[in-house]
Amino acid sequence: MAVQLKGRCVCNTLQYSLHLSAPDEARTTLCHCQSCRRAFGSNYGLTTKVPVESFKYESGHAKLYKQDNGVTREFCEICGAYICEYGEVAAEKFRYVMWGSLDDPEQVPPQGEFFCKDRPGWMPEISGVFHKQEIKQ
Ligand SMILES: [Zn+2]
Ligand SMILES: [Zn+2]
Repeated sequence: MAVQLKGRCVCNTLQYSLHLSAPDEARTTLCHCQSCRRAFGSNYGLTTKVPVESFKYESGHAKLYKQDNGVTREFCEICGAYICEYGEVAAEKFRYVMWGSLDDPEQVPPQGEFFCKDRPGWMPEISGVFHKQEIKQ
């Protein structure tokens, strides 16, 4: 069953759509790594991995920033909100969409957690999802 999701930045300049041929083409995960922590300004990153061809901007042009570790993040140059990210290996195949930028993110709830070794002591594990100590892929 095909699924269509929409999302946008805070100021509405960037709008995008996701066209998935099946719901399981999307995979949402938390990532507790230092890079996500810094970029999100929170204790973890929360993204939904989708095939690159399913992701399309409907309005606006994203600004890109490529970090030293090879991760590129696309964001709105007006309000600063992140829309998606991808590492060098993933760039041609996938987009990791910022979960909170989706209009209806509950359609794609978390399925796993990465870099659990970096999880702060006060942050509980999510039950019923997979847990990896490191590598996000
Ligand atoms: Zn914006
Ligand atoms: Zn991470």
